[in-house]
Amino acid sequence: MPPVLYIVVPCYNEEAVLPITAPQFLAELEELADKGKISDQSRVLFVNDGSRDKTWDIICALCSADGHYLGVSQSRNRGHQNAVLCGLMEARERCDITISIDCDGQDDLSAMEAMVDAYASGCEIVYGVRSRRDTDSFFKRSTAQGFYKLLRFLGAEVVYNHADYRLISARALAELARFEEVNLFLRGMVPLVGFKSTSVYYERHERLAGESHYPLRKMLALAFDGITSLSVKPLRIITVLGLLISLVSFIGVIWAVVTQLTGRAAVGWASMTSIICFIGGIQMISLGIIGEYIGKIYLETKHRPRYIVSERTWADKEN
Ligand code: UDP
Ligand code: MG
Repeated sequence: MPPVLYIVVPCYNEEAVLPITAPQFLAELEELADKGKISDQSRVLFVNDGSRDKTWDIICALCSADGHYLGVSQSRNRGHQNAVLCGLMEARERCDITISIDCDGQDDLSAMEAMVDAYASGCEIVYGVRSRRDTDSFFKRSTAQGFYKLLRFLGAEVVYNHADYRLISARALAELARFEEVNLFLRGMVPLVGFKSTSVYYERHERLAGESHYPLRKMLALAFDGITSLSVKPLRIITVLGLLISLVSFIGVIWAVVTQLTGRAAVGWASMTSIICFIGGIQMISLGIIGEYIGKIYLETKHRPRYIVSERTWADKEN
């Protein structure tokens, strides 16, 4: 029996692009089913992430026009990562494999076949990796690459140039469901699940329509979330920095005492002020970083739900 595939597509204010890409997802699904690589029980599952435009209406219309489409709606906007998780968790009881993909047509659908083939040969997780980044602006490209390097330096395991286009089997999803954190960074969590995995390479295109929801502010927030979710090395760096500064200060104290005793003490206002400012700055940054971690602990202890489904298109009828 070929596996049942669910393509999980998060959508937030995507009325411009959804009518273009939805038929493309369906065509890919049908092509794979025709080749006998997936079951014809396979579906395209849209997750409406609290859109304020007509996205949910479009999803509902698609679902009533063709039974291969399914939709769930979140009770409000929760962000891309939570929307993907919601879709994966909704899908996992109903299918053998999931592929998550953005709905803007940037990711090459033909990579899905290679992903399904890799699953057939025994992989539980298949990462879609961008072979090139020339469609990105120079700024986005260099900040993204700097981010991967920083993550690696901090000891966090992520797949280079992989975003959230990946195949995960229902078996791996059952294990992912046991990761209970509310601060989600799926790119870092999925490699921790383990199992046999591989990568397939594809070229990323421009968005087909609509606008990106990831301005610099959100990108920085995601990067920061990624680092603090995956690594406690920043705390270690603070400790090492503190030790180094203490050592230098200790030498400074001896030097000051000797200067005083030999009667050569001079008015050192400028040097004193700079040292105080410098150390004050480092202390504030360190407190900030520690605060970030404490904030995360605070959010985690609340155990709030990571997604809340308000509607499902299959609630009232058989899929
Ligand atoms: N998205 C979402 N919730 C959000 C923001 C984005 O579900 O709060 C979805 C969006 O509809 C798209 C995907 O996440 O399918 C990636 O977003 P986008 O294409 O805007 O990001 P970019 O590719 O520019 O980084
Ligand atoms: Mg995009």
